[in-house]
Amino acid sequence: MAYSNDKKSEKCSFCGRTKKETNLLIAGVSGHICDSCAEQAYGIVKEEVKSKSDLDLKHIKLLKPIEIKTFLDQYVIGQDDAKKFISVAVYNHYKRLMQESHRDDQDTEIEKSNIILVGETGTGKTLLARTIARLLHVPFTIVDATVLTEAGYVGEDIESILTRLLQVSDYNVESAERGIVFIDEIDKIARKSDNPSITRDVSGEGVQQGLLKLLEGSVVNVPPQGGRKHPDQKMIPVNTKNILFICGGAFDGIERKIGQRLNTKVVGYSASARADQLDRENLLQYIAPQDLKSFGLIPEIIGRLPVLTYLNPLDRTTLRAILTEPKNSMIKQYVKLFKMDGISLEVEEDVLEYIVDKAVEFKLGARGLRSICEAIMIDPMFEMPSGKSRELRIDLKFAKEKLEKVNIKKLKVA
Ligand code: ADP
Repeated sequence: MAYSNDKKSEKCSFCGRTKKETNLLIAGVSGHICDSCAEQAYGIVKEEVKSKSDLDLKHIKLLKPIEIKTFLDQYVIGQDDAKKFISVAVYNHYKRLMQESHRDDQDTEIEKSNIILVGETGTGKTLLARTIARLLHVPFTIVDATVLTEAGYVGEDIESILTRLLQVSDYNVESAERGIVFIDEIDKIARKSDNPSITRDVSGEGVQQGLLKLLEGSVVNVPPQGGRKHPDQKMIPVNTKNILFICGGAFDGIERKIGQRLNTKVVGYSASARADQLDRENLLQYIAPQDLKSFGLIPEIIGRLPVLTYLNPLDRTTLRAILTEPKNSMIKQYVKLFKMDGISLEVEEDVLEYIVDKAVEFKLGARGLRSICEAIMIDPMFEMPSGKSRELRIDLKFAKEKLEKVNIKKLKVA
């Protein structure tokens, strides 16, 4: 800071006002700035940053659907149908964002392609959503639909879904408004019956109505700290128009609804051949919007989730691939962790087969793979960094020994 000997002559180097004429005069190394010029300068900076981010969007390389899928392939094994649907939806979402930034009113408005993923738990729904967010470099958050309740009930208000998005965007509203929200366990807010006049599950439907508001694209007042709304909490308005919502759910028992629909459809047509062709082992692949309705989602919600796709149950081959093939596969991660201590890790092939066998045997799915690996690796990860040996070779004997020590039931993850 520089001081002028002659305090009276101090004036703003930008507008020339004297100290007396301003509320505040801030001194710099060789000049001064008054409060109103500082405010104006801040406005210019903000505007500049905004136009830069618009520019970013224009200059961003628009990945084609096939390229998006190739990216997903690096992290997610199988699930080709889901990947295809998501790739197209994301591609269109991007186009939509670009059009938004320079659209004239006569243009055809591209509708938002919110996505709904149906598949057993642990088949990669969250992973897909997470990977997409990584590709797009946009804020991403996961919320659990089970914590949502209607206003007035115990639980969180619908708007709090967006609190997390604001938080991961450092409260930059503009950036949050282009983010992706993954709503997990969407099936848990389904109405319990298809027929609203019988066992009417008011809270389920109420939450769906609330959610509709977010999905539709509107300005929502978001409590910055989440939780319940407090009258004294200052709300942040967030426009959900460009937020991509990806919903996921296991929809336990929906196969029955799909089966019923397919059976009633084929009866009476010359479709007995078609009925034979159905892959009864995996009816999920035939999922259609009306099945979601039979399950208890209201038609308006279904309408706002136009991209419906499914995930396959993970078979043995897929589980085995998940261990080593993804770019950041579990085994690659362990190798890296040990390498940071200068230790080379090698896992023998029959150990990998054994891990998969156990995951299948105890019906632990892909999430179980990690807990099994942890059980095997925990001792060496604890001891070796302080030890002398710089080589670790995991063979079947070692793996069995470690796994038998733990209670396999404990490995069960929800
Ligand atoms: P969901 O959301 O369907 O319940 P997740 O995406 O959370 O399941 O999957 C749990 C974990 O299992 C992931 O973090 C990942 O490690 C692994 N996983 C599941 N499915 C796949 C897959 N298809 N490819 C690669 N890893 C997978």
